[in-house]
Amino acid sequence: MAGGPLAERSRAQVAQDVKGLGGIGLATVQVGEDPASTVYIRRKHEAAGEAVIASTDLKLPEDITQEELDEAQAVLAIDPVKDVDGVHPFNAGQLYLGRPTLVPATPLGIMALLEEYQIGLSGTRAVVIGRSDIVGKPIAHLLLQANATVTICHSHTADLERHTLDADVLVVAAGLPGIVSPDMVKSGGAVIDVGINSTEAGLVGDVDPGAAAVAHFLTPVPGGVGPMTIAMVLANTVRAARYRRGLLAFPKSER
Ligand code: NAD
Repeated sequence: MAGGPLAERSRAQVAQDVKGLGGIGLATVQVGEDPASTVYIRRKHEAAGEAVIASTDLKLPEDITQEELDEAQAVLAIDPVKDVDGVHPFNAGQLYLGRPTLVPATPLGIMALLEEYQIGLSGTRAVVIGRSDIVGKPIAHLLLQANATVTICHSHTADLERHTLDADVLVVAAGLPGIVSPDMVKSGGAVIDVGINSTEAGLVGDVDPGAAAVAHFLTPVPGGVGPMTIAMVLANTVRAARYRRGLLAFPKSER
């Protein structure tokens, strides 16, 4: 389940949409210099440039004080209609209520990949490892809305393989290389490896690549979910521009 070709098509569509809409911008804010975040942000900007989206990058120092940058306050400061990462409580709440509006890019990319590879979800058992606000929780909601029966595993989950072995669809977003070994994967299941871990051997995912021999599908790292995330950030940027210009109705909020 490579993500590259679908991501290319999605980015070409974005470039075409931008031609029609004109004058779109994407702004990123980075605190500190986490290497994985730096690479991810650089790729977002490169991809935005290719699609003729003007992008600006604000970098804040690692040692910025709590008073200067409180994460919850920073998220609240985002205008929900410009929230292309889907992190504002309004957009997170919309997703929770089954009315996806601006949804985090990685989960959107995962759903697009599952659709591309015609992996049916209704009635299946889906297991998500990880409960972050940008991957684990939102993908669990999207899978639930697609009528899968969803289990969320996390750092306090006992007996992880008891859950993973039952998973028709397994989404792994823990940030721990090899947390899922081949013997933890259901034969014929679909495995989505979200993890990006920088190791001496280079970038690796959370799933042992040997799982490909057991699973029906396994997304590679790199080249699986990563390119889809970038493509979906751009697609969300176009979506936000449509909301702002009244071409799509943005649900009423208290903003
Ligand atoms: P995070 O780093 O905020 O949290 C990790 C999650 O894993 C937590 O919810 C925790 O409960 C869970 N976890 C930790 N140890 C566990 C264990 N032993 N068993 C079960 N669960 C455990 O999560 P994140 O921001 O979603 O990132 C997860 C990984 O995905 C990272 O490697 C990150 O770099 C990667 N990521 C990749 C993309 C992409 O585009 N491919 C996008 C976002 C994040």
